[in-house]
Amino acid sequence: MKLYSTHNPEYLVDVKTAVIQSMAPDKGLFMPQHLLPLPQHFFDDITDLSFQDIALEVAHHLLEDSVPLEQLQIMVNDAINFDAPVVSLDKQVGILELFHGPTMAFKDFGARFMARLMRYFLTQEVDGKAVTVLVATSGDTGGAVAQGFYQVDGVNVIVLYPKGLVSDLQERQFTTLDHNITALEVNGTFDDCQRLVKEAFLDAELNEHLFLTSANSINVARLIPQTFYYFYAYAQLLRKGIDTSNLVFSVPSGNYGNLTAGLIAQKLGLPVKRFIASANRNDIVPQYLETGEFKPKHSVPTIANAMDIGNPSNFVRLQELCGPNQSDMQRFIWGHSFDDEAIIKAIVAVQRHYGYILDPHTAVGYLGLQEYLKEVDSGAYGVVLSTAHPAKFLEVYESHQEINFSVQVPERLEALKKLEKHARPMTADFAQLKAFLLEQ
Ligand SMILES: *Cc1c(COP(=O)(O)O)cnc(C)c1O
Repeated sequence: MKLYSTHNPEYLVDVKTAVIQSMAPDKGLFMPQHLLPLPQHFFDDITDLSFQDIALEVAHHLLEDSVPLEQLQIMVNDAINFDAPVVSLDKQVGILELFHGPTMAFKDFGARFMARLMRYFLTQEVDGKAVTVLVATSGDTGGAVAQGFYQVDGVNVIVLYPKGLVSDLQERQFTTLDHNITALEVNGTFDDCQRLVKEAFLDAELNEHLFLTSANSINVARLIPQTFYYFYAYAQLLRKGIDTSNLVFSVPSGNYGNLTAGLIAQKLGLPVKRFIASANRNDIVPQYLETGEFKPKHSVPTIANAMDIGNPSNFVRLQELCGPNQSDMQRFIWGHSFDDEAIIKAIVAVQRHYGYILDPHTAVGYLGLQEYLKEVDSGAYGVVLSTAHPAKFLEVYESHQEINFSVQVPERLEALKKLEKHARPMTADFAQLKAFLLEQ
């Protein structure tokens, strides 16, 4: 596979370069040059394949010989070692649970696979410099990436997160590890953190001293494993005998990496009718779909905090995959946004009706699907991507009196409460980050 920069289709690199550099020198994002459908036999046999079988076929199809098949198999089996079941809520709604990994959010897929792919490439070349993985997090990426690289020799991970804007358990997942993981508590928003990371990449002096790379969804390595579960969800629907002729996926979105991966899966032949861009009040993409204007804004805080993003970095990739105009994107994606009140109502209603507890992000996805069934196609079957386990957001359930049930905290999360937080405070000023990085 060759990848091009979204700023220059002539600028082509191999997979290794794209993964290690994260972003093209012209500030474009890398995109696969060709996305060809998987062979028909893959779809004919898909109901007989395990999740790992599916993941390996898709990964090999995308990466071709960039990674030898035996290596790739080890990577896939190691990274994708937990399930992603589709739970049926009713005849038209399935919930694809993507939170059974170590940090209990879907980011585990991207981060675990990316960490292994980077490790594989980095053993071939480090220039004698320690590798620094910079990652901005709106909540869940930090933990997943930190876990993925924890105690890996020669790799330092620096997590930038917005002070007071991530949940307690999210914060503990990357501030209690130590070793090669450093947390920087930035007095600002997620967008500030993301900007700081981008500035660091473009800073010549820093790049002379450090081998910097990014683990955010600007890195194409994150997107590859996120295609796997779209295929696996489809296989599960077929096994359940569900009619998939009007299949839609509702994707609770922030930076739009997850939705980008869905569009890639569709290009690889997955029969998807439409994607639903389900947003909280940070509604840049639904607004674009409605007005044709892409207007990044300051993010506003919501109870679905991992989606509080005012300048979604994968928007350019959506345009690459759909086409440059509003009408192009509308053919592939339908969008809607919801405020906190609607999110709480959905959580309460779904628990009452089905006895199923949605996390606040998944609730946004659920609402997006309901709206689509009402306004666009009452005959569709929809899969809602459930991006996190509700126990990661206990504050939300405890602080709303409409919620009269409690969320069970899995042992994996409970254990975090006993560990001590270590984070270094920082302003949103690049000079300060730079000085800190130069000390490393
Ligand atoms: C990151 C995240 C999202 C948003 O995913 P994007 O790929 O950035 O659109 C949604 N829900 C949860 C729980 C997340 O952690």
